[in-house]
Amino acid sequence: MGFKTWRTKDFGIMVRSGNTGIGEVANMSKDVSTCGALSSYCKEFCYMGSAYYKSMKKAMAPHAENGRIFRDIDERDMWKLFIFDMVRLIESKRLPLFRVDVNGDLVSPEELDAWMAVANLCPTTKFWIPTKRLFWLDRQTVDRINDIDNLSVSVSVFFNMPKHIVDMAQKTGLPIAYCDSENKYKYKVCNKPCTTCMWCYTKGSTKRNVFLPMHGTEAVKKRREFQSV
Ligand code: SF4
Repeated sequence: MGFKTWRTKDFGIMVRSGNTGIGEVANMSKDVSTCGALSSYCKEFCYMGSAYYKSMKKAMAPHAENGRIFRDIDERDMWKLFIFDMVRLIESKRLPLFRVDVNGDLVSPEELDAWMAVANLCPTTKFWIPTKRLFWLDRQTVDRINDIDNLSVSVSVFFNMPKHIVDMAQKTGLPIAYCDSENKYKYKVCNKPCTTCMWCYTKGSTKRNVFLPMHGTEAVKKRREFQSV
């Protein structure tokens, strides 16, 4: 598998392709500090917060840089320029699939609006955004997402979220990306790589729910300990 790295021209946002998990799918990450209000449910178990990943300073630096760039765009309200910048990259590379936030999360509702605009302007690219930003997914926003054929947004649910939060996620009507350890296979199990599977990139209702097994040795170990308490 070939690994590729690009940067958008104006903001220098790093976009990569080639990952043993997702395959040759264009993707971008931010650091976990962009995970927002619900991060308390995952910060202990997220593999990105593990000592192993924290030790990979060189590999993680571009995620932190992307996080800084997105926060800066948001603070300075430069989303129109972001849309132009990202569309130019996607068009020039003719990217068929694009995953937003392999790590990290949306920094604001305006970022979600911006990705909707990007998807509308790149109709031959299929986008997937998993997010824990439940509070931004009101009926009107979900309707707008549902009107865009090439944009799938999934609500990311972690096993230790309180029931009322999981209920809120289900009420959005969007597909759920459910992250748990190995024992609770209630949905389709992730069948990586994405390039051949395409499940999460294919528009659908909650029928497109997916089970993403936890990964990262430390995270899985902690999950087992959590389960046995
Ligand atoms: S279910 Fe398929 S499309 Fe979704 S993350 Fe797993 S491999 Fe990728």
